[in-house]
Amino acid sequence: MKFKNVIDDLRQQYENQPLNNQKDAEDMASEAAHKCLQHLNGFPIPMGDVLRSLGFVVWVRNFTNKSISGVMALHANEKFPMAIGVNVNDSHGHQCFTLAHELGHYIFDIQDKGKELITIHYNTSIDNENNLSELRANKFAVYLLMPQNEFCKIIEEAKRRFSNRKTRIEYAALAFDVSITAIQRRLEELKIAV
Ligand SMILES: [Zn+2]
Repeated sequence: MKFKNVIDDLRQQYENQPLNNQKDAEDMASEAAHKCLQHLNGFPIPMGDVLRSLGFVVWVRNFTNKSISGVMALHANEKFPMAIGVNVNDSHGHQCFTLAHELGHYIFDIQDKGKELITIHYNTSIDNENNLSELRANKFAVYLLMPQNEFCKIIEEAKRRFSNRKTRIEYAALAFDVSITAIQRRLEELKIAV
């Protein structure tokens, strides 16, 4: 099955699914990420390639507002009807996280009605826990980029290879192409000591 079909199926599946609380957000994020991972090979997930395979153009932009992490634009440009911009001022790892976050929105929140639709996303590395769709997009990014089993495996590997905590975390950040902060948050979430 082509990855694009997987995403289209997910978009249909979640189109009218209610999102009432944090548990809904986490369950849907986990389920969708799991389905995506069945059709992707290995880590780190090449988020730029993944989005391009769906028809997006991916731009790295110098947004004057530094708190903008990403922008998704549908039908705003005739030549490029599906576009995602990430902020050049963010680290590479943060940009990858933003791309995964945007993919989450594309699956769950964005209905393509063939009309211009531009959405801006701020500070994707920080949880906006009071907004359930932002929480769902963030959780989706975490589960897609750093699924639990693979995460534990890489942390064990890092522990075997390096004695220094900082180096272990840097190793995991490289393995998943995410920021140091994202690794630290995932460690806390899974209650793993490193
Ligand atoms: Zn967002």
